[in-house]
Amino acid sequence: MGQRNTKVSPMTVGEVYDQHLSTPPKPSTNTEVQHPPPRDETPVDYIFSRYAIGDQLGKGGFGVVYEGRRLDDDLRVAVKYVTKTQHTECIFIPDHPNPLPKEIALTILANKGHRVPEIIRLLDWTDHPDHFVLVLECPSPCENLVEFIMRHGGRIDEETTRQIMWQATYAAHKCCLRRVFHRDVKLENLLINIETSEVKLIDFGCGTFWGLHPTSPTTVCFR
Ligand code: ATP
Ligand code: MG
Repeated sequence: MGQRNTKVSPMTVGEVYDQHLSTPPKPSTNTEVQHPPPRDETPVDYIFSRYAIGDQLGKGGFGVVYEGRRLDDDLRVAVKYVTKTQHTECIFIPDHPNPLPKEIALTILANKGHRVPEIIRLLDWTDHPDHFVLVLECPSPCENLVEFIMRHGGRIDEETTRQIMWQATYAAHKCCLRRVFHRDVKLENLLINIETSEVKLIDFGCGTFWGLHPTSPTTVCFR
């Protein structure tokens, strides 16, 4: 991970749109990567037109996460913008005619079936040749566990630790039952609601799906 919690002045939808869409698509050199055809989206129905974009919540190698508001009902959301690279894998999943970027596909699959509050919900998404966007639920008020532990002086008590670990393990277990292997369960990828202590597993960008490869997944991702 790169820097975290870098506060930026709120951007207008137009600024986010210009900043990200002005980047020309990067040509793919990997023939195994399947880039899905773009959905028929004109700028007017582009996903950012449905959300107001605010402060930056986090930033990784390829993804930037912004706080946002759904314009329809003012719901607080997190908007994750990911730039595609030649390594961006796309996979087919049931009920979707086109291959989806793996992070979108795995987040959909992890949420399939009854609601598991310990797994972050995907509210909306869009896919383009050079980038994709996930709109995720945004617990409020929340921190990732690195921030939470730092705020507590680098130590948390045993009972709190037990509650967090139970929820993190439950989320990972439910994902496994849905054949989704997160492979990157770590403090930065767990959010905690600081009022209710509810924990949510986020960031399926490193995961894999049982059935994607001929052998069962046994690898761990280090980024
Ligand atoms: P990548 O490694 O795929 O480039 P990343 O690791 O930077 O991405 P995430 O882990 O999804 O991306 O998000 C980075 C940070 O943004 C998280 O640690 C968290 O602080 C914040 N964040 C992400 N999703 C949410 C969310 N749904 N609600 C609130 N904060 C979030
Ligand atoms: Mg992450």
